[in-house]
Amino acid sequence: MSGAEYGQPQLFIGGEWIGSKDRSGEDVLNPANGEALAELPHATTQDVDRAAMAASEAFDGWRRTPALARARIIRKAADLLRERTERIALSLTLEQGKPLAQSRIEVMAAAEILDWCADEGRRTYGRIVPASVPGHQWSVLRQPVGPVAAFTPWNFPLIIPARKIGSALAVGCTMVMKPAEETPVSVNEIARAFEDAGLPSGVLNIVHGIPGEVSEQLINHPVIRKITFTGSTAVGAQLAAMAAKAGVKRCTMELGGHAPVLVCEDADVDLAVKTMMQAKFRNAGQICIAPTRFFVHDRVHDSFADSFTKATQALVTADGMDPKSEMGPLAHDRRVPAVETLVHEAVDQGAKLATGGERIGNAGYFFQPTVLTDVPDAARIMNEEPFGPVATITRVASLDDAITQANRLPFGLASYAFTGSTHTAARLSDEVEAGMLGINNTFISMPETPFGGVKQSGYGSEGGIEGMDPYLVTKTVSVS
Ligand code: NAD
Repeated sequence: MSGAEYGQPQLFIGGEWIGSKDRSGEDVLNPANGEALAELPHATTQDVDRAAMAASEAFDGWRRTPALARARIIRKAADLLRERTERIALSLTLEQGKPLAQSRIEVMAAAEILDWCADEGRRTYGRIVPASVPGHQWSVLRQPVGPVAAFTPWNFPLIIPARKIGSALAVGCTMVMKPAEETPVSVNEIARAFEDAGLPSGVLNIVHGIPGEVSEQLINHPVIRKITFTGSTAVGAQLAAMAAKAGVKRCTMELGGHAPVLVCEDADVDLAVKTMMQAKFRNAGQICIAPTRFFVHDRVHDSFADSFTKATQALVTADGMDPKSEMGPLAHDRRVPAVETLVHEAVDQGAKLATGGERIGNAGYFFQPTVLTDVPDAARIMNEEPFGPVATITRVASLDDAITQANRLPFGLASYAFTGSTHTAARLSDEVEAGMLGINNTFISMPETPFGGVKQSGYGSEGGIEGMDPYLVTKTVSVS
């Protein structure tokens, strides 16, 4: 597929598609070869203002649109995404790098998320409270918070925007979204599906541009009532501080993790290896819930490390357009030195390189799937999320040690454990500090269940019935 077939990223403001004309911009690159696919137009300050005003002007009509009618549009958009799977998946692989099969799954998953949100939006009930003062009726209303500013990353440029757009629109909010500059066409495809599904102009607006400039303008814009961000803890902290200064605006922060995996002495090692191989190397490890720190009980350590390393060596790393590819390149050029440095520093500090550790070739941003063992706790990779295809395996003597290690960091997004004991499972459920825990499986990010972190991994949930809350305000009404 050529750059021309990939499509031209555009702004979408008040129902109008806007190209690069007279705007500055930057190239969107194919991470498999570093070649330009298209030019991304940067929104001007006037564009960002128009997008915020469009979201504000559309809000009253959209919040008064019956939830059933909103749900029908969202479901229709989901159907259109499914119909367009092949085209959208191709664009996603070209701009982000993941294997085509993973891109197809992502399109379907985004559609499922929209369906869930459409249905759940119809169930945002308030409640009647029995009044303790005679002659009064007390009720609690749930109302949409208002126009939302959303910032989304490049690792899942369909799933993450679908979560935010689906929930916000289902309960009656409008939105201005700034997608990651690396992956603009995926989000444009979502907007196109909504437009074709009959979404009124201005309900969803897309602005591309320089993240720091667009976020500052949008967060400070007087009509914006709510901020939602998925990305690194460092950027999330900046945006949350800005939102506080801009008028104590509400925030949802889906930030980084550093997921521990506790492989207990009674674990099914084959299951642990098979499940964790997929979870670790999907999307080249560029997932905030990717398992990275494996704490493996002494009794099963050697067999786990050996099998996991062999399976890692067998992975096929290639351009995502190649049907044999099981792992594509990293998403952009900054990720290669970032991952490489973490690995090399760990080795310099005494870690053993079981496999991988190097960049592959000079074309594109490929990095070998990597396993490190005996990594000192002080190594940066044990403390900072590598956001890449690297696993660290650490021997532990007891369940207590594994839990202490799992909880050692100031992050708490995903966590995983493998055990045959219901008693251990109950203890882990209680004691592991994380927003999500998968025991003997990885089903922790589903449309029906809340996704979110604790500690510096952020606050607020996406998904599940909890995923509607960030877009709603609560009003108590007392009538005499
Ligand atoms: P980065 O911090 O440059 O960018 C990460 C994302 O944040 C991009 O999508 C970018 O557009 C956005 N961003 C950056 N500065 C922003 C700002 N001031 N306002 C609004 N948005 C802003 O880092 P990177 O090199 O692209 O990725 C590095 C780190 O980002 C990773 O190590 C990982 O921790 C984090 N990340 C997390 C997720 C996630 O799903 N939680 C996704 C992508 C990246």
